[in-house]
Amino acid sequence: MSNHEAGSAARDQGEELLSPNPAHAQILQQLVSVAPTGIGFYEGPDFILRFINKAGGEVLGGRAVVGKSLFEFAPEIKDTPAHEALRRGLRGEEHSLRAFPVPLNRDGAIRPYYFNLATKPVSDGAGATIGVMLAVVEVTDQVVARQRAEELAMLNGIITDNATLGLLMMNDQSECTFMNPAAEEITGYTFEEVRSAGKPLHEIVHYLRPDGSPYPMRECPIDRALPEKNRTQGEDVFVRPDGSFYSVAFTASPILRGGRPVGTVIEVRDTTEEKRIQAAIQESQERFRAVFDQAAVGISVFSKNGKRKMANDAYAQMLGYSAEELLETSVHDVTHPEDRAVDEEKFKGLIRGDAERSVWEKRYVHRDGSIVWGIVYATVLHDGQGRPKNVISAVQDITERVRAAQELRDEKEQLELAQRAGGIGTFEIDGQTGRITWSRELERLYGLAPGSFKGTTEAWYAFVHPDDRPQVERKIAEAIKRRDPGFEAQWRIIRPSGEVRYIAGRSEIFYRPDHRMERILGVNIDVTERTKLERQKDEFIAIAGHELKTPITSIKAYAQALRRRLSRSGDEASARNLARIEAQVDKLSALISDLLEVPKLESGQLVMRPERYDFDAMVRETVEALQVSSEGHKLIVEGASGVTVYGDRERAGQVLTNLLTNAIKYSPGRDKVLVRLGRKGADAEACIQDFGAGIADEELPYIFDRFYRTGVAKKASAPGMGLGLYISSQITAQMGGTIKVKSKVGEGSTFCLRLLADKSNEQKADA
Ligand code: ADP
Repeated sequence: MSNHEAGSAARDQGEELLSPNPAHAQILQQLVSVAPTGIGFYEGPDFILRFINKAGGEVLGGRAVVGKSLFEFAPEIKDTPAHEALRRGLRGEEHSLRAFPVPLNRDGAIRPYYFNLATKPVSDGAGATIGVMLAVVEVTDQVVARQRAEELAMLNGIITDNATLGLLMMNDQSECTFMNPAAEEITGYTFEEVRSAGKPLHEIVHYLRPDGSPYPMRECPIDRALPEKNRTQGEDVFVRPDGSFYSVAFTASPILRGGRPVGTVIEVRDTTEEKRIQAAIQESQERFRAVFDQAAVGISVFSKNGKRKMANDAYAQMLGYSAEELLETSVHDVTHPEDRAVDEEKFKGLIRGDAERSVWEKRYVHRDGSIVWGIVYATVLHDGQGRPKNVISAVQDITERVRAAQELRDEKEQLELAQRAGGIGTFEIDGQTGRITWSRELERLYGLAPGSFKGTTEAWYAFVHPDDRPQVERKIAEAIKRRDPGFEAQWRIIRPSGEVRYIAGRSEIFYRPDHRMERILGVNIDVTERTKLERQKDEFIAIAGHELKTPITSIKAYAQALRRRLSRSGDEASARNLARIEAQVDKLSALISDLLEVPKLESGQLVMRPERYDFDAMVRETVEALQVSSEGHKLIVEGASGVTVYGDRERAGQVLTNLLTNAIKYSPGRDKVLVRLGRKGADAEACIQDFGAGIADEELPYIFDRFYRTGVAKKASAPGMGLGLYISSQITAQMGGTIKVKSKVGEGSTFCLRLLADKSNEQKADA
């Protein structure tokens, strides 16, 4: 800057400002040069700088050169509003502009700087404007600060207005001074309502506890934040205008100005929904935990790489481990080696997303080494992004089921084997449909190919011998009609090949609660061989018996004749011996009669001659006849029945004889046999009691079978063939009577014969 030029400018302006004292002009010049205001003088349309003070030079970044055009050292100003302001000054206008932006290149980049700016036209002596005086005060810092403050205020507004977080402010009187929309939404009050209430915020939104008791302000942590100068965080329950409560999470921060508390900023968040969700999550977690812990099935949770994260007690128990031990074993360890590959593949499939859930059976190895069969129900659990996260599996122990199934298979095989070995076939008849199911063996028995039986009653009867069919049909029909628990029958069948077989059938009938037949289960046994053998035996016995009868009759006749002759000749000793021979011949003849009776009984050829007779008289007669030849035992008759029986009197006597003979025969060394007469209902009964060896319980059921003799009888070599009781029971049954027996080993036996009273008999049954 040149002093000369500055001096001339001062001269122009000084006229109206200062006194004409030339000394003062120099002071003015000095003043201009040190003034904080940038001052410069530009001349002509090209704005040639004629002088500039220090502050003015600084404004231009030290680029100003006196004598050069402004646009030469500060070209960025050209054609800007600043250029226009200078131009208007050149046209004689005076300006004063505040915070006027001027683009300047001070450090290599053009940026706006702000100035309070004044222009003043400078004229020559003749009044023509020759240049412009420019005075500038830089206000860039102030402008930027103001803009920044404005921006911040705007941002603040945006933030508080759009926040979901409720923001409130309180003054040092705990009165609300600010609420953002979220705070209004949360509290249910408008800021206006809260402000105009004229009482502390606490008294409006926080005055009650959820139990309805008052909440004193001095206990409120939010209101304590300010006096304690402490930022506080917590959860609490506020109250709405309608009196309902809601949970909030809050932060209360004291505002300190110069260390002095002036207010509180409160942030609040309505946590009601959060709480509800949390509670729901917790509840569902608890529910899962309960199911997990208490389930009877084993449950485990696996991470997606197959590691077991947790397992319940049932799972541990199933495999014989404690919960701790289980943590140290992997699924691989407890899986049967042969099932590991399948197991892994199933698991990987779930993680790959082949399926949401999968069910498979596998074998585990129990801690004790035994195999545990399980059925696994596995489900994939996903994370928030829908990626597989965990697999949860429930395992049901089906070891018992598998074992039972195996046993059932074994049993069935055994049964089939047994059926085959025993020649036994089984069948089932469905009462509802009438369908008949036959076992393989039954088909084989009937000579049919497996599976070829048609399953109907007619299909079965087609094989039954026509002569036997009526008898079988009648038996079944009668059994069902009487609701019998079962029936037995024998019949012949004709196989498709024409071969005749003998079948024994035994069935059980099951009834429904309404007494209708539900089903029949039964067995058929091929008894052909047995029947044939029995036939042969019967034939043999018949022939042998018959052949024996003639010589025995002759022996008896000759013995009788001989005895009479010896008696007459006075040889009594020989006569007695012959009498003994005769008695033995009688026994022999009785035995042969028995033998011959059997086939008759079998074929139903036994002829009955029924008549009405006095039961008691018949008994006494029989007893008397036997007493003659039984010297060792006294036969004692007690009581009376007084019953008239209708039946074959001779046969009844035969039965009674047999029972009495046995009583004597099987009580050797005893001296009596009791015969008690009595009545059972209307019927007559005679009980024959001996005091002999008795019969063991396990032998009792068989003593009425053909040729059966007890061990004791055989050992004692008491004479007999085991036919007497068989014949007796058969005869009695044909007469409609029964024989019952009670016996105790070492104490004796009691056989009771019961016969039917004559139906036309008008006797009163008052027994
Ligand atoms: P038997 O007497 O010819 O052997 P039974 O048919 O009369 O044949 O009797 C069958 C079996 O019953 C006898 O062998 C005997 O073992 C037994 N028994 C019959 N009656 C008696 C009885 N009163 N005391 C003991 N055992 C008896």
